[in-house]
Amino acid sequence: MRARLAAVLTLLLIAGCGALPPPAEPADPTTAVTDSSSGPEGTDTPEEFAADIKSAQTVAERYWQKVFDQQGKRFQPVSEVFPYERDGEVKCGRDGLPRNNAAYCSAGDFIAYDVNWAFGVFQQIGDAFIYYLLGHEYAHGIQARLGIQKEFTIQQELQADCMAGAFIGDSARSRDLSLDKGDTDELARGLESVGDDPGQPWFAEGAHGTADQRINAFANGYQDSLQACDL
Ligand SMILES: [Zn+2]
Repeated sequence: MRARLAAVLTLLLIAGCGALPPPAEPADPTTAVTDSSSGPEGTDTPEEFAADIKSAQTVAERYWQKVFDQQGKRFQPVSEVFPYERDGEVKCGRDGLPRNNAAYCSAGDFIAYDVNWAFGVFQQIGDAFIYYLLGHEYAHGIQARLGIQKEFTIQQELQADCMAGAFIGDSARSRDLSLDKGDTDELARGLESVGDDPGQPWFAEGAHGTADQRINAFANGYQDSLQACDL
């Protein structure tokens, strides 16, 4: 049983397989620029995308450093965050990471994301999604550091959504992160897009939670910080 749990936990994706929207079609440029999410900072170029990934990582590290400090624990950042493009190009143990997803791999203590998929969602939904994505995967890294192994995948996933909510809410409250008007809508749409298919049984190995469950878990952490996340 232990070995099985460990195997399940090796690879924690952002979404269950098959639950994601098709690979983002190149966003219609007219909707991309008139979208309210494209403020002055914009969410259109690969450079902006790369900068947001980097910034999300930095803010997450600062956040968890603070949380660990407060508890008198030593914090070790996740070792690496990097992109991939092809199915199976990145391995986590024996598993290849699938396209259209992102993952924390405890075996290598890294976060990796399909850059074409993530950039597509970034263009369609907005920059807030990148903070959620990084926040969620970073939360899996924190779970690994705290030795948290829930019985079901869905519990592990909804807790990570709650922790991502706490990270974004607390960082906004401490002004480490400034949320633009429209960012909370972007977050809700982002969570919606990674919700499980309604036919997915909650106890399935890959279950992450329905869109409603994921939005609720995120919102609880966002409003009430980590105390809402049952750590
Ligand atoms: Zn996850």
